[in-house]
Amino acid sequence: MTTQTEGPVLRTAEMHLLTPASPGEATVVSTERCTASRKSASFVRHVALDVSGTPLAGRFVPGQSFGVIPPGVDDAGKPHKLRLYSIASPSRGEDGAGNVLATTVKRSIDEHREHHRLFLGVCSNYLCDLQVGEKVKVTGPSGKRFVLPANPAAHDYIFVATGTGIAPFRAMCMELEVVAPASRVMLVMGAAYATDLLYHHDFEKAASRPGFTYLTALSREKQADGSPARYAHERLLDHREETRELLASSRTLVYVCGIAGMELGVLQAIATVLGPTGSEAYIRGTQDVMREPGSWDRRMIPRQVQPTRRVFLEVYD
Ligand SMILES: Cc1cc2nc3c(=O)[nH]c(=O)nc-3n(C[C@H](O)[C@H](O)[C@H](O)COP(=O)(O)OP(=O)(O)OC[C@H]3O[C@@H](n4cnc5c(N)ncnc54)[C@H](O)[C@@H]3O)c2cc1C
Repeated sequence: MTTQTEGPVLRTAEMHLLTPASPGEATVVSTERCTASRKSASFVRHVALDVSGTPLAGRFVPGQSFGVIPPGVDDAGKPHKLRLYSIASPSRGEDGAGNVLATTVKRSIDEHREHHRLFLGVCSNYLCDLQVGEKVKVTGPSGKRFVLPANPAAHDYIFVATGTGIAPFRAMCMELEVVAPASRVMLVMGAAYATDLLYHHDFEKAASRPGFTYLTALSREKQADGSPARYAHERLLDHREETRELLASSRTLVYVCGIAGMELGVLQAIATVLGPTGSEAYIRGTQDVMREPGSWDRRMIPRQVQPTRRVFLEVYD
């Protein structure tokens, strides 16, 4: 059992080549729903943007985000602020030349706080409404901590996603297939219902490769095998032996992306599978804390429950 807590040297990621003061102009080249079924109650689109001619072209890496500046002004009459979207493409882009990057956008739909009329999130609905050929203002790239290691083939990976948190893992899986084909990957995708799974058919295909395990976690219905509703981290426990074997290797890195709060369950699952001593490679905490992962809550991260540099978290509301 390893206690190596040192993180790997990460791949160099360029930042802020395009800023809000001086954004670039991208063109929509494709837009399609990427839920497993059109019956899904959520609307999530795979939107591909041509960034050729801007400094973004060829200079983004999986795990980074880019900014979108929606047109128009907010309630205070100020221009809308940019929103961040994870890059869902490998560094070679959707086109193989780094000129087209894609993201995975979920329409944000709510009732208005004051008068219960329909509230449509500004930027997600703008992006999802865009038609092929339309232009969009982009910034970035941003983020340099949630990226693959500089030597990706020296590692194996556990990726845990909920919802659009799958975007960076689509990018990373496509990247690894080329730059680290022998690395093991365990990908866990969490969604409410089977109809909501994103890029499901692509990942099913990827799972036919040796060393690639694809697990789905449905939180509001039974799993395909008849077992009860499950959150993403619970699938790590269902597949405890494979999870333990992967986690016990000093090659393994854990990446978590999606709804804020999901990191707690993943860290608890690691501590449960490896036990207090074994999990030192991924989590630091006092002996008392490490003995009782079931009693942890979110506020204990990162002070009392401290992920090591082998754990990468990117969560958002
Ligand atoms: C690093 C990072 C990566 C991200 N990657 C992705 C990604 O890949 N895909 C993705 O879809 N998202 C991603 N996001 C989230 C994204 O940036 C946006 O926050 C999201 O799309 C919602 O933006 P919006 O402009 O549509 O909603 P906004 O207009 O900003 O509203 C946000 C939320 O606030 C609430 N709200 C605001 N005003 C009201 C009101 N008057 N009444 C009721 N409710 C209200 C609503 O619940 C609404 O959903 C990422 C965020 C970060 C930080």
